[in-house]
Amino acid sequence: MSIPFVDLGAQYQSIKKEIDQAISGVLQDSAFIGGKRVAAFEEEFAAYLGASHCVGCANGTDAIEIALEALGIGEGDEVLVPAYTWISTANSVCRVGAKPIFVDVDPDFYTIDPNGLKAKITSATKAIIPVHFYGLPADMRSIMTFAQEHKLFVIEDCAQAHGASIEGKKAGTFGDVSTFSFYPGKNLGAYGDGGAMVSNDETIAARCRMIARQGQRKKHDHVMVGRNSRLDGLQAAILSVKLKYLDQWIAGRQQVANTYNELLSDLPLSLPQVPESFAHVYHLYVIQTDRRDDLKAYLGERGIPSLLHYPKPLHQVGVFDPQGPFTVSESMSQNILSLPVYPELTNAQQNEVAEAIRSFFKD
Ligand SMILES: *Cc1c(COP(=O)(O)O)cnc(C)c1O
Repeated sequence: MSIPFVDLGAQYQSIKKEIDQAISGVLQDSAFIGGKRVAAFEEEFAAYLGASHCVGCANGTDAIEIALEALGIGEGDEVLVPAYTWISTANSVCRVGAKPIFVDVDPDFYTIDPNGLKAKITSATKAIIPVHFYGLPADMRSIMTFAQEHKLFVIEDCAQAHGASIEGKKAGTFGDVSTFSFYPGKNLGAYGDGGAMVSNDETIAARCRMIARQGQRKKHDHVMVGRNSRLDGLQAAILSVKLKYLDQWIAGRQQVANTYNELLSDLPLSLPQVPESFAHVYHLYVIQTDRRDDLKAYLGERGIPSLLHYPKPLHQVGVFDPQGPFTVSESMSQNILSLPVYPELTNAQQNEVAEAIRSFFKD
C-alpha cells in the first residue's frame, strides 16, 4: 500500500467539480489580479476567523514582513521569536531591518515558552511573534498579558494553524495582526503561493494593504514607499471553495491524530499534548523518541514516509547572529518525527504506519 506524506491529489478529486468551475470562472472573466473573487475571499476568511479585516498577499513570509512594517518595526528594533519554527518567522524580522531574538519553546507544547520572554526583553524590544506551531495555538493568554505589561506588539504567525482556537476563539484574533500562508500543503492551501494579513484594527489593516499595493492610498495616489505582494484571482477563487471544507478537514485531521494517540499510546514515545480548551488542527502530527534516526530509517525501508519539521532550531541554522543555548529546541531537533496526517488518510494506511512503529519498538 502506498502512503504519501501528503495527498493533495486525493483532496482535489473530492472537490474537483467545484474547483474546476471556480478556475474556469476566473479564466472566462480574465480576472487574474484583484477583482471580486479576491475581495470575496478576504471577506469570507475574516468572517471565518471572527476578525474584521483580511488583506491578501503573495505568501505567508511576505505577510509577516508586511505586518512588521505596518507596525513600524525596523532598524534597531528587536522582535521575540521562538527558537523552533519555520525559518520564515525570523527571516521576515531580518528583512525589515530588525533583529530576531530567540526564545526557547515549551517542552510539552512546542510553542514559544511565555516564561522565557522576560529574560529577553531590552529597551529595543518592540514585538513578539508567537507561532501556532504544528497547528497548536501558542499560550496566547499569557503572551497577551505579558505584551500588554511591556507595551509590545503581537503578531501571530498562523501559517500552520488555520481554524485552531483557544476556548472557541480562533488563532489569529488575539494579537495586533496575524499572518497566514496558503502554501499548497498548509491546512488551507491554494494551488500556488498565497498569504494574508488579518487584523481587528482598521488602521493596521489599511497600512498592510497600502504597503502591499505600492504604497498607494488609491490608484496613482502613492503616499509611501511600498511593494507588490498580491493574492491572485485564481488562488482566491480556489481558496473560497476550499474554505467551505476547512472545518470538515480539520475534524478529519483530529480524528487521525486521535487514532494515532490510541494506537501508539503504550510505546516509549512522546505524543502531541493539547492544553485544556485548546483546539489543535494537526497541520503536523509530531512524535518524539531518542531513537528517532533509527525509527525514521526503519519506516523508510517499509515505504512509510516521515519528515523532520525541522532538522535544526533557528539559532543553529547559521544565518542568524549566534544565540543560545536553547535546550528544549535542541533536544527536539534530535528527537522529533512527523507522521502522515491528513483527512484522506485511510484507516488501513494509518494502521500500517502504526504497526510499523510498533514493530520497530518490539524488535
Ligand atoms: C509556511 C510557513 C510560513 C511561510 O509561508 P510561505 O507561504 O511559505 O511563505 C511562515 N511561518 C510558518 C510557521 C510556516 O509554517
